[in-house]
Amino acid sequence: MTAMLGGWRRTHTCGELRAAHVGQTVTLMGWAFRRRDHGGLIFVDLRDREGLTQCVFNPATSGEAHSTAQEVRSEFVLAVQGTVQRRPPGTENPKLPTGEVEVQVSRLKILNESKPLPFPLEEEAAVDEAVRLKYRYLDMRRPQVLRNFVIRDRICRAVRDYLHGQGFIEVETPFLTRSTPEGARDFLVPSRLNRGHFYALPQSPQLFKQLLMVGGFERYFQIVRCFRDEDLRKDRQPEFTQIDIETSFLDRDEFLPIVEGMLVEVFKRVGGIDLPAPFPRLAYDEAIARFGSDKPDLRYGLELSDCSDLFKAAEFQAFAQVVAAGGAVKGLRVPGGGGMSRKDLDDLTEAAKGFGAKGLVWVKVNPDGLQSPVARFLEPVKAPLLSRLAAAPGDLLLLVGDRMPLAAAVLGRLRQEIAQRLKLVPPQEFRVCWVLDFPLVEWNEEERRWDAVHHPFTAPRDEDLPLLDTDPGGARAKAYDLVINGQEAAGGSIRIHQQSVQEKLFKLLGIAPQEARARFGFLLEALEFGAPPMGGIAAGLDRLVALLAGEESIREVIAFPKTQKGTCPLTDAPAPVDPGQLKDLGIRLAEGD
Ligand code: ASP
Repeated sequence: MTAMLGGWRRTHTCGELRAAHVGQTVTLMGWAFRRRDHGGLIFVDLRDREGLTQCVFNPATSGEAHSTAQEVRSEFVLAVQGTVQRRPPGTENPKLPTGEVEVQVSRLKILNESKPLPFPLEEEAAVDEAVRLKYRYLDMRRPQVLRNFVIRDRICRAVRDYLHGQGFIEVETPFLTRSTPEGARDFLVPSRLNRGHFYALPQSPQLFKQLLMVGGFERYFQIVRCFRDEDLRKDRQPEFTQIDIETSFLDRDEFLPIVEGMLVEVFKRVGGIDLPAPFPRLAYDEAIARFGSDKPDLRYGLELSDCSDLFKAAEFQAFAQVVAAGGAVKGLRVPGGGGMSRKDLDDLTEAAKGFGAKGLVWVKVNPDGLQSPVARFLEPVKAPLLSRLAAAPGDLLLLVGDRMPLAAAVLGRLRQEIAQRLKLVPPQEFRVCWVLDFPLVEWNEEERRWDAVHHPFTAPRDEDLPLLDTDPGGARAKAYDLVINGQEAAGGSIRIHQQSVQEKLFKLLGIAPQEARARFGFLLEALEFGAPPMGGIAAGLDRLVALLAGEESIREVIAFPKTQKGTCPLTDAPAPVDPGQLKDLGIRLAEGD
């Protein structure tokens, strides 16, 4: 090592020197961030991971170093040796932790040169994301990018420390495996040694973590990559990281506090934030009814009210019919929203239609009465409507009548939109809750069958078991989601560990015994060898880091992310392969591909 750097040895980082070091001889290594040639003196701001230090080259005291410094350009890699001195009075930089001092350089070694960069590294510089991702390794030299990865690392450490403290062991599971039950499309990997056969990259370690429980490991976790070949909706990545957890012998109410403890620890250690635990719990039905979402954002009010009964026999035919057909009329009060312009209201109506509503009824509560395109029809229900929504003059009321949960969902989306517009979302606040008791299955109208809401190994609530035969849609699952600021941060469930219940569920989901054997046979067989009661969860690490780093997009907290089209601008993946590779795999591309 010493020989490689010609006897130079770094003594300090570029973020370390203070007034207390004045007089010491130091050696720093890093990149030339900025160079200023003042004719006589040359200044170079030397940067490494820890910070910036101003280095001064004086022709009068060290001519050789000064003349080498003339060759230095941005991002050259340098080693400097010199003496720490106080900056002359008036030239200190209080914004820089090292701003009281500078290094008077006596020796300079250029360790490497650099071409001019494709974009400036200055914090203020706005650079196109595609360019940043192509040169991600340069982007990373910016302190604000590094910062996100330091946060990510600290979160992982906090998670590991906490879970180890709770008796969990970290176990790796295969990437080259078979299809898992999350229901997205698989990434397939062809096998050369077994022509015509394919591995699937795991959408999660779900099946393996259950096998680890059958194997008696009792408490497992893994910070693990998962792969889902989905159309990349906003802020999704085809590979992403989960904190994956599974436990044995715990019921839901013993397990959730363990997860709460993990979150509390992470927020405290990494963000200095106290999350009050236990986290509030909302049943799925309640979340939909009050917030129109199973991912309710609790940072602001704007709760929905049910007004169906008011319109049951009302003159307002559109709503009366909806209620008669078993739908609902949901209402949202926007305090002080009466000042919204016609344009605002048209926008909201368009948004509601975009969310799937047939229409949106708006009502301004004026001191002298209701103002609305349908005011005449509302007049008979005016008093109970105002009291149901606790409305006061100056408010705006929004009503949607439709089948459930659509009516609530539309208002739920408007609720978010309005909170943004009216700036009701407090910055830097974290509101966490559990959503519990999800439906076990949902009706798939297109395929005319029941689909698992979570995955087919999720246990129904004990008391709902009989409903599997009589009213499957009414059965609730032992499933839970953790929601932070309106985003799903984690999801999991207590699993089915009895073969008979599992078979029943497969039957309900229309998965024939042969198909179940073919897809998950190994797990089903394992369940026959004394599987313990088990349950777990998976938390999205990327989203958690983004939340704590204050970033909108998870791409900012993934070292080498993919674009919206699933490509990597840096490596140009995915790419065609040479015909020989395909031949080895026994694969021929279809005409035109
Ligand atoms: N495997 C599930 C998922 O990735 C999480 C779980 O049930 O633990 O969504």
